[in-house]
Amino acid sequence: MLIILVGLPSVGKTTFSKKLSKELHKMGIDNIVLGSDLIRESFPVWNEKYEEFIKEATYDLIDKALKKYTVIVDDTNYYNSKRRDLINIAKKNKKNYMIIYLHAPLEILLKRNVERGEKIPNEVIIKMFEKFDKPGEKYKWDEPHIVIDTTKEINIEEIAKLVKDYDRINKKNPKVVDNNKDHKENHEDAKNNKIKIMDKIDKITRKVVGEVISKQEPSKIKEISKELTKLRKEFLKEMNKKLDEENIDENYFSEEKIKEEFRRC
Ligand code: ADP
Repeated sequence: MLIILVGLPSVGKTTFSKKLSKELHKMGIDNIVLGSDLIRESFPVWNEKYEEFIKEATYDLIDKALKKYTVIVDDTNYYNSKRRDLINIAKKNKKNYMIIYLHAPLEILLKRNVERGEKIPNEVIIKMFEKFDKPGEKYKWDEPHIVIDTTKEINIEEIAKLVKDYDRINKKNPKVVDNNKDHKENHEDAKNNKIKIMDKIDKITRKVVGEVISKQEPSKIKEISKELTKLRKEFLKEMNKKLDEENIDENYFSEEKIKEEFRRC
């Protein structure tokens, strides 16, 4: 599977990826940590003109490695376009993917950055912090499966288990896990969210079907009602699958949105 780390410089991605890599190895999962710095640091100096090559070479490496191993991408993955590219690499290889978002307050990032010699100027981190589009903020497909506050204790064993289970189930069943909450709480949140949305979809589509049927000529009611019931069942099945694949927020499914999706179906 592909594990996509997201987080600003100094948040702790490299530290975390090394620990996760070791833990996954202990569980019998062959894995490799890859990131654009591997290529970037192979140039004698940094130059903007190398960046396109760095990006493509990193993607190629990830693509190749993914065919054999679980890959942990240790990069800021600052833009959602990069996260989308990585997800597409996973999809192309028919592999599961997980987004792990690491965060910490700005003052902590700056402090850690200074402590390790300020390789990146603090002003750059400040600008990145201000402009950062957090994963999942704009797009549902971009929602992180695991959220980690790196100022808190990180239970690496628990995270490795989640990753392993997620891949083993082999169906995209994202759980949003936040280490400010306990595991049980997170699991319950995701389950309750799905139940609530499915309940809403059930009620609204039932209503729509009822309305359509009430407008039909009596001679056609039986036939149309059979057809619509079948369609509604298929739609519920499709939505159930979609909710397993993507962790969609309850508010996203307004009555209008549900009707629109049902019409499309
Ligand atoms: P990144 O890869 O995100 O730039 P690093 O893993 O290199 O971050 O960590 C940046 C600095 O912060 C390092 O000096 C590291 O020792 C420290 N650090 C990393 N994770 C933590 C943590 N969970 N708590 C405290 N310090 C950390």
